[in-house]
Amino acid sequence: MINHLTKCIHQNAVDKGFYDNPRNTGEMLCLIHSEVSEALEADRENRYASNNVAKLDGLSDEEFKSTFDSSVKNTFEDELADILIRVMDLAGYKGIDLEKHINFKMRYNAMRESKHGKKY
Ligand SMILES: [Mg+2]
Repeated sequence: MINHLTKCIHQNAVDKGFYDNPRNTGEMLCLIHSEVSEALEADRENRYASNNVAKLDGLSDEEFKSTFDSSVKNTFEDELADILIRVMDLAGYKGIDLEKHINFKMRYNAMRESKHGKKY
């Protein structure tokens, strides 16, 4: 599931011209961070979409875009999605099996001590 989504996200980025020139990993990581900052600002401004999401099912593309622009774009949920999209695009670009590495890390983390031995 995650790898399928990764493939689709990366292919969309290729199709949209984001890979017409070689990409820089550092820049891509900064772009992920920019989405994290956007999520922070959305939270600070209490921009959440939860109550509007159900309205998007079954709309035509034109209606969807209009409703998305007015009730989802730039919300906390939208920015979290942007973070994952950028992470998955980077994984797709580098040929990383993200699903396998998430499972590895979850198994490893399950064996760690409370709060991984940290204060928080
Ligand atoms: Mg964003």
